[in-house]
Amino acid sequence: MKHRIESDGEGNAKSKGKDDARRKEAKPGDKVCVITPKEEIEGLLLESFEPGITLVKLPSGYNIGLRNEDILEIKVLEGREKREEKIEKLSRRKGLANVAMIATGGTISSRLDPATGGVKWLTSPQELIRLFPEIAESVNIVSIESPFRLASENMSPDEWKVLAEKTALLLNKQDVDGVIITHGTDFLHYSSAALSFMLRNLNKPVVFTYAQRSIDRGSSDAKLNLLCSARVACSNIAEVVLVGHATLSDDYCYAIFGTKARKMHSSRRDAFQSINAQPLARVWPDKLEILQAYRKKDVSKEVKADTSFCKKIALVKFYPGQKPDILEYYFAEGYRGVVIEGSGLGHVASSEVKHSWLPAIRKLVRDGVVVCMTTQTIYGRVDPYVYSPGRELLKAGVLYLNDMLPETAFVKLGWVLGHKQWRTPEKAREMMLHNFAHEFSDRLVP
Ligand code: GLU
Repeated sequence: MKHRIESDGEGNAKSKGKDDARRKEAKPGDKVCVITPKEEIEGLLLESFEPGITLVKLPSGYNIGLRNEDILEIKVLEGREKREEKIEKLSRRKGLANVAMIATGGTISSRLDPATGGVKWLTSPQELIRLFPEIAESVNIVSIESPFRLASENMSPDEWKVLAEKTALLLNKQDVDGVIITHGTDFLHYSSAALSFMLRNLNKPVVFTYAQRSIDRGSSDAKLNLLCSARVACSNIAEVVLVGHATLSDDYCYAIFGTKARKMHSSRRDAFQSINAQPLARVWPDKLEILQAYRKKDVSKEVKADTSFCKKIALVKFYPGQKPDILEYYFAEGYRGVVIEGSGLGHVASSEVKHSWLPAIRKLVRDGVVVCMTTQTIYGRVDPYVYSPGRELLKAGVLYLNDMLPETAFVKLGWVLGHKQWRTPEKAREMMLHNFAHEFSDRLVP
């Protein structure tokens, strides 16, 4: 926080009374002009947690702190109520598509906390629109709800079910053209994969989006991501997609299939990449460039939230020298499926070494546990036919999942095994190899 003007040393009670009188009209959320002897500053008045300091969000998105004693006057240019009324009105404009929003947690649902310098949750989902009214200009935001506010690392399959059920209810409403879900980035690709499988007979767009920088920062990526999400949410794309920055600049976004997205960078705004497949589309706030075949919107369809899920599944990353104890553990605990992230082509310690995984794998498969293989390289596909260890694993009953992402495979396995009718190993294997939501690509694209 910057202190623009040096104190003149008048911090006494009399001056405090004066400060209060100058400030009493203006409330957090008002658009204001702060007048000091040196300059006039226009912006949004924020709640300040530091005594004696007035905090203003500048149009650039940056916040500035001013000492109250240096302020001559705070003029209210537009009251918060008026601004909110405007947003309300905007959300009922004829001719615009109707989009429903679901806000979960993550950076996109947080803002800077001036008291700590960190970020904290927005107080209400509506605050997202208050801080970012532009989204309500291109689409009608007909509703905004927040069934839970959790960072994505705190979510579980229970939250995926809630999201799928809420989304299906919204999609089956006549006056909703699409749904936008705001979400934390770290485990977003699990949720997007979950909804890709759980939303059967999908009729309209479902768009996940995120931010790497909180929405009230000048450098926030939220604005472009939200505007492009709105563009996809009112399109004729009946798919679950993730929309976010395609490059480091604020120029355009990609829409990526929910089963093909992966966070590939810890902080860059273009963190999400489409793996082994072209993105579905390039997206600008006002246009789309389609790059892949997709399912078209069909409002005559009714979406079904098919949320059965077996939690007794595991994702295991193999490392050199690792004993197969972890498999024994899951076996003893009654797990019904394991996805292994093996070598590039899909190997783990073979019969050439004492700590071979083959005996444990055979034991699990014999008991009906579905053991799947994916690649640690993320890009490319597993192939058991190139080296003999691959053939050994194949013979032991390991199911090779081609180019499916390990995280997508994990979610899919839980979803498949959640269905009683698919629970026999043969049926489960057949379903794991069925392409439900673009999780397999015919042709790999770098
Ligand atoms: N780790 C948190 C989450 O994934 C916050 C980070 C973010 O939104 O990117 O929800």
